Amino acid sequence: MSTVASRLQDVRAQVEKACVKAGRNPEEVTLLAVSKLQPDSLIREAHAAGQVDFGENYAQELRDKAKALTNLSALRWHAIGPLQTNKAKYVAEVAFAFHALDRAGVAEELSRRRKDTLPPLRCFLEVNLAQEETKSGVVPEGVEALLHTVRALPRLEVVGLMALPPLDPDEGRTRARFATLRELAHRHGLRELSMGTTADFALAIAEGATVVRVGTAIFGERPAAVAPSAGA
Ligand SMILES: *Cc1c(COP(=O)(O)O)cnc(C)c1O
Repeated sequence: MSTVASRLQDVRAQVEKACVKAGRNPEEVTLLAVSKLQPDSLIREAHAAGQVDFGENYAQELRDKAKALTNLSALRWHAIGPLQTNKAKYVAEVAFAFHALDRAGVAEELSRRRKDTLPPLRCFLEVNLAQEETKSGVVPEGVEALLHTVRALPRLEVVGLMALPPLDPDEGRTRARFATLRELAHRHGLRELSMGTTADFALAIAEGATVVRVGTAIFGERPAAVAPSAGA
């Protein structure tokens, strides 16, 4: 068995265990394999091992990989990184979902660029829970206004909230941040919660995650980002 296949099996087992512990049905949780900066060959390996959902951070890398891997059946691309308006078209053209919506301008461009032949783009509003100055995401108080704008756009469907809280050795604080996202989603009538990475997906599942975004535990360490795709 390849390394990716065995790691994937291991992560799936951990997801299942976290679900059982939390009294949840494992079918409620989607495992998103974050393949940013990883070569196509590893994506093929994961796909051959039954993985369907893949996450990419950089718009041009997403475009290129989607093109190179069109023959992989049923594969769903998720764009999970911050997006510039001028690159929104790459996401609109190929993605199943976008997890990092935090600005009306990007939302409008995504809706404008989403073809009628595709289903509406599933969107998660990214929330900056720790209110970190350098991070992307809308502050919790800004969710309502952004939601109002995005819900009026014809080619987008808001399904939930997303967060990438800072890595924190304090499990209690991490759980509290995930719980805050869950409460915020509930208040706004949103069902999906995209939260949890390699470091904390079990805690995220305990707090209600419906999508966990796991890269390193599946693919191993990432090669370093090289300009110009970095930050794309
Ligand atoms: C890279 C990334 C992940 C995956 O991180 P790992 O630690 O490799 O699991 C998840 N979410 C976002 C938004 C990312 O950028």
